Amino acid sequence: MEDNCIFCKIANGEIPSATLYEDEDFRVILDLGPASKGHALILPKSHAANLFDLPDELAAKAMILAKKTARKLQEGLHADGINVVQNNGEAAGQTVFHFHVHLIPRYKGDTVNLNWKPGELKDADKEEILGLFRS
Ligand code: AMP
Ligand code: ZN
Repeated sequence: MEDNCIFCKIANGEIPSATLYEDEDFRVILDLGPASKGHALILPKSHAANLFDLPDELAAKAMILAKKTARKLQEGLHADGINVVQNNGEAAGQTVFHFHVHLIPRYKGDTVNLNWKPGELKDADKEEILGLFRS
């Protein structure tokens, strides 16, 4: 646990939350500022600021838990879809610096805004990025 981390306190039960699920590694809670009905957060009990700090084993478990929980939320709430979102860094919209996965049920015609305007893949960008992945 990290001092002054609100999600450490919530995940470890020091601060009460609307808990949907808990195991030795994670707590799943309802978001206090939901984007839609059923917006939930998956919180690891151990502190990791973001995805890059999260041990691989927990990253793998988080995705499996996201899959199970997302299915249950979507079916139980009769949602039409669900977004699985995970923000890293302020520029990416992260406001709480303890890794978490958002599960945001979606309903036809809702006003949740996760959209971007498609750009165009530039040749120079493509070459630069492909170069990063060449060995
Ligand atoms: P992010 O912007 O990805 O860091 O997401 C942080 C999320 O945490 C937001 O959706 C907030 O509404 C939510 N949040 C912040 N504080 C609390 C809290 N005490 N309990 C539940 N959700 C919270
Ligand atoms: Zn923390």
